[in-house]
Amino acid sequence: MALRILVVDDEEDVELLFRQRFRKEVNDNKVNLHFANSGLSALDILKDVSHQDIIVILSDINMPGMTGLELLEKIKAQYPNKKVMMISAYGNEQYMNEAEQKGADDFFTKPVDFKLLKEKILSDI
Ligand SMILES: [Mg+2]
Repeated sequence: MALRILVVDDEEDVELLFRQRFRKEVNDNKVNLHFANSGLSALDILKDVSHQDIIVILSDINMPGMTGLELLEKIKAQYPNKKVMMISAYGNEQYMNEAEQKGADDFFTKPVDFKLLKEKILSDI
């Protein structure tokens, strides 16, 4: 079964980037990608029963409205078994520490190193 991943980012071109970088895994049915452009929209997707097998969430931190760190807290409170990995444009120690305290499973900086990202998320499957 494909690993279902939800990518949360307010920047529109992120979807295209992930679709390009995961084209092979998606074609091989190893990965199934979902996208949300805000924290609220991400929570709506996770609430949907047809999306309950999304187990990895990759979220941008800096978003208008709900920040990625707020989203992280909500997901960890409601779905403790899901993995949440944070992505930040800034190599900001403060964000990293805060994300770790709130239970983030990993932390990446932009531009995302997709080789490393794939190693981390695909190692279990
Ligand atoms: Mg952003």
